[in-house]
Amino acid sequence: MSRPSSTGPSANKPCSKPPPPPTPHAPSPAAPPAAATISAAGPGSSAVPAAAAVISGPGGGGAGPVSPQHHELTSLFECPVCFDYVLPPILQCQAGHLVCNQCRQKLSCCPTCRGALTPSIRNLAMEKVASAVLFPCKYATTGCSLTLHHTEKPEHEDVCEYRPYSCPCPGASCKWQGSLEAVMAHLMHAHKSITTLQGEDIVFLATDIDLPGAVDWVMMQSCFGYHFMLVLEKQEKYEGHQQFFAIVLLIGTRKQAENFAYRLELNGNRRRLTWEATPRSIHDGVASAIMNSDCLVFDTAIAHLFADNGNLGINVTISTCCP
Ligand SMILES: [Zn+2]
Ligand SMILES: [Zn+2]
Ligand SMILES: [Zn+2]
Ligand SMILES: [Zn+2]
Repeated sequence: MSRPSSTGPSANKPCSKPPPPPTPHAPSPAAPPAAATISAAGPGSSAVPAAAAVISGPGGGGAGPVSPQHHELTSLFECPVCFDYVLPPILQCQAGHLVCNQCRQKLSCCPTCRGALTPSIRNLAMEKVASAVLFPCKYATTGCSLTLHHTEKPEHEDVCEYRPYSCPCPGASCKWQGSLEAVMAHLMHAHKSITTLQGEDIVFLATDIDLPGAVDWVMMQSCFGYHFMLVLEKQEKYEGHQQFFAIVLLIGTRKQAENFAYRLELNGNRRRLTWEATPRSIHDGVASAIMNSDCLVFDTAIAHLFADNGNLGINVTISTCCP
């Protein structure tokens, strides 16, 4: 084998090529303000109290500055325990105080008046107001300026670019969260056993692929001035049937990932199996890609066709692509 393997760093391809500049993605001035769409999707305006309807009107929300009255209104929805918003279904105590549904489940009495929380009393008027107000994204403090209808908040917050990054290591054992800039330092400090290879064309060698149960093999590849995480995961997708999932992640944003392509190749015994795709941002993680088989997927029989003494070499090639 002429290619470098994970037992030694590759030196034949220096990684001096700079990454291409990110595609300019200026927000289109023609795009309607978020508020317009949101108020249209809300409940019939006849059911909305007048004060709230004004606030959700054009110019009242979206990414623009939030008026003081609007802030006053959203602050009425603050949960007194966790300071997150109390969103529909809105339940109140016997005296009319609100608490969010997550906190309510852990409480035996009202945090404001100590009164009974049961039986549940719904506050339909506040629910109607909530439907007419745009709430700031949960990550407003880290830079997100979006305000959203409460029904759109969770979906946006899952993909919000200001959401903190989680540790990209597969498996749920590490609970670290932080900024993108801090991810590499975390990996080097807390996951010292992960090897790094330099170069755009390397061999990811997974040893002992017959280890029982769910197993992850992880290594890092550095090229084009970026760090990529290579993951091979063995899972039992259904009873008695084991599958392998191989994928490349970029330690970077989704937009940065679009500048690259990766190829995974199993090669040998007069056979070849190839998968090519855009690397996934670590912001998105591996779990959903594996669940949707959006990666190189093969079963134990195929793994054995390519393995050598229980060790499987996956050729990994990363390239830049012109967007
Ligand atoms: Zn709460
Ligand atoms: Zn109360
Ligand atoms: Zn956001
Ligand atoms: Zn970690």
